Amino acid sequence: MRTVRTVAELRELLAPERRAGRRIGLVPTMGYFHDGHLSLMRRAREENDLLVVSLFVNPAQFGPGEDFQAYPRDEDRDERLAEAEGVDVLFAPPVDEVYPDGFDTTVIVGGLTETLEGDEAQRGPDHFQGVATVVAKLFNMAQPDAAYFGQKDAQQALVIRKLVSDLDIPVAIEVCPTIRDPDGLALSSRNAYLTPEERERALALNRALRAAEATVAEGTVEADAVVAAARAELDRAGIEPDYLQLRSATDLSPVERVNGSALLAVAARVGRARLIDNAILGGDQ
Ligand code: AMP
Repeated sequence: MRTVRTVAELRELLAPERRAGRRIGLVPTMGYFHDGHLSLMRRAREENDLLVVSLFVNPAQFGPGEDFQAYPRDEDRDERLAEAEGVDVLFAPPVDEVYPDGFDTTVIVGGLTETLEGDEAQRGPDHFQGVATVVAKLFNMAQPDAAYFGQKDAQQALVIRKLVSDLDIPVAIEVCPTIRDPDGLALSSRNAYLTPEERERALALNRALRAAEATVAEGTVEADAVVAAARAELDRAGIEPDYLQLRSATDLSPVERVNGSALLAVAARVGRARLIDNAILGGDQ
């Protein structure tokens, strides 16, 4: 595995591979790898000849009061884990390589980014501007044939799909299932913030999603009742969610009933961590 820090080095490595007709897969990450990241790498490893993983804690997607400085980092461990997954190139640029002096362009995906995480009361519109801008840059830097994202960040995956569709970026977007610990907690780098007691409380997010699933499985489809079943699990754990909403799984518009696949999305603070999770209800998954 080669670790590279500049766009020039990355391009130099990838150009002959591309010319030789080899298929390039990209997994964008912010590092501090867990099994969720590794699952994306495994899938990408299977489907591509050359596997590039980017490791970049992107300041542009963190708000002023957010955890950019505190975000967990362990590049040596990440290098070892990536190497073990058969990653060919780890692209780990410093901030000024991605945003050099004078950088002044922002990619704004409309609509989808104005709700849930993008709501002013949540992370706000700048969050997805930061995500879309860095992902567009990574796509131009690596020019992958395919790029891999997690369903854990369901809204982000929709935003990326819209980005490549609206801007005609020639990359296939693959969205991979959420990986959970055996007790159901969705893996997240931010779980590192949780004390053992908080981790126990955080399990209520998964219980809430499963309660909603069970409610739909019993034949209840009204959004209010489905959300109430999930809400009851959060209440029992003393968790006040930042949001708990049932939306269209394709365009995030509000839905009144589960009719086809719907996305139940939740965000909540548990201790120092702000956690998000989701489930697709009433669909094929
Ligand atoms: P991050 O490093 O948190 O930006 O995540 C990098 C990629 O891994 C994103 O596409 C995430 O959606 C994905 N990811 C994060 N957590 C999980 C998980 N528990 N299961 C599957 N994918 C995940």
